Amino acid sequence: MEGKYVIQGGKVMTPEKIHEETDLVISGGKIEGLFPRGSAFPPEYEVIRGEGLYVSPGFVDIHQHGGGGSDYMDDCEDTYYNATWAHIKHGMTSVMPTLVAAGHQGTLRAVEQYVKASESGRICCNLLGLHLEGPYLSPAQAGAMKPENIRNFDSKEYEAIYRASQGMIRRWSAAPEVKGAEEFAEFAKERGIALSIAHSDADFDTVIKAYGMGFRHVTHLYSGMSSVTRRGGFRIAGVVEAAFYLDGMNVEIIADGCHLPLSLLKLIAKIKKPKTVALITDAMRAAGQDVKESYIGSKDDSQPAIIEDGVAKMMSREAFAGSIATPDRLIRTMRKAGTSLEEAVRMMTVYPLRMMGAGETKGEIRPGYDADLCLFDEGINIKKVLVGGRIVFAGP
Ligand SMILES: [Zn+2]
Repeated sequence: MEGKYVIQGGKVMTPEKIHEETDLVISGGKIEGLFPRGSAFPPEYEVIRGEGLYVSPGFVDIHQHGGGGSDYMDDCEDTYYNATWAHIKHGMTSVMPTLVAAGHQGTLRAVEQYVKASESGRICCNLLGLHLEGPYLSPAQAGAMKPENIRNFDSKEYEAIYRASQGMIRRWSAAPEVKGAEEFAEFAKERGIALSIAHSDADFDTVIKAYGMGFRHVTHLYSGMSSVTRRGGFRIAGVVEAAFYLDGMNVEIIADGCHLPLSLLKLIAKIKKPKTVALITDAMRAAGQDVKESYIGSKDDSQPAIIEDGVAKMMSREAFAGSIATPDRLIRTMRKAGTSLEEAVRMMTVYPLRMMGAGETKGEIRPGYDADLCLFDEGINIKKVLVGGRIVFAGP
C-alpha cells in the first residue's frame, strides 16, 4: 500500500544539497516535503528510521538485460519479476529492459513479453519503456552479439517490431554507418524513440553526421565501438573521440570497474560536460547470482559465458560478455574514481531519466515528485527501497 510515511532523521539528497538530519514526508505516492528533524506529524504517518542513512532518489538503469538468472529475452512468465527483483534489492526503482540482437521471431516474442509484463501489475519497479540493442549493428563491432543475428536496417521488420511493442519502445541502439540508417532515424524520431549509437565502427565524420540525424546518445562508451585506427599510417578518429568532441552527445558507461577501469572513468568524468554521463549496469542474467557459468541471450539462442573477476567473460576469456553489476556497485566504483557521491547519484537518477525524456516527475527529491527512493549507508549498502511511495524492499 502507498501509505503516509515520515523518513526520520536521514541525510536527504535534494538537487541543491544534502540536508543532514532531516525528516522527509511522503503521502499518496508522492514526496510531500522536508521538515526539521523531530517535527510533529499526525499519528497516521508511519515512521521509517533514516538516522545515519542517505535518502536518495531511486536508481535508474536505462540499459539492463537481466539478473537473478533471467534475461529479458527469455520467453517465460517470471522473467521480468526475477530480473527486476535482482536489481530492486540493490536500489533500482526504474528500468529500461534491453533486448539483444536476435532473429525476427525471437525479437517479436521478447517484445510481447515486455507488453505482458507491463500490464501484469506484478513488477515492483517502474518500467520506462523498452530498449532494443540491435539487430542493426556493425559486424566488425559485434562484441558479445551473435554475428548471425546482426543485419542491415529493414523498414518492414522494424515497423513490425514497433507495432508489436504497442508503442512501448523508447530507445533503440543502432550503428549509424549501416545501410538504411537515415530512414530509420526519421522513423524513430517521429515516434519519440531515443536514438543511440551502439556496436558501431563509424569514423568521426559519420558520428558527426549521425548526431545531426538525431543520434544523441552513445551506448556503453568504449565497448563495441571504434576508436583511433590507422589506415596506411594515417590516423582516423572513431566513435569514442566523437563522443568526447560533441558536448551535446550523451554517453552511458558500465561503471563496474571491469569494462572501464578507474583511469577511464576519471577521464570520462573530467572531459564530458555535467548531465551528459549516465551509469548503466548492462547486466546479464548472472547479476545478483553466485554462479561461475552462465550464458547470454535467450535460453534457445544463447552464447556461453564464464563468470569470474566480477564480470561475465566470453569462453575464450579474450573479451567480456556483459556485466554482472547491480546499481549500488556502480555508485561505489564512481566514488573510487573520485566522483562525489551527489554527482554519482545524479548519474544514476536524474541524468539518465532526462536523456530518455522521462524525468518529469522522477529522479529528484522535490515536493510533488514520485516517491521513488532508496536509503543506504556510507558503503552504499541498500537498506530500503520505495517505489511510488510503497516499501518494496527492506534490508537487514
Ligand atoms: Zn547491452
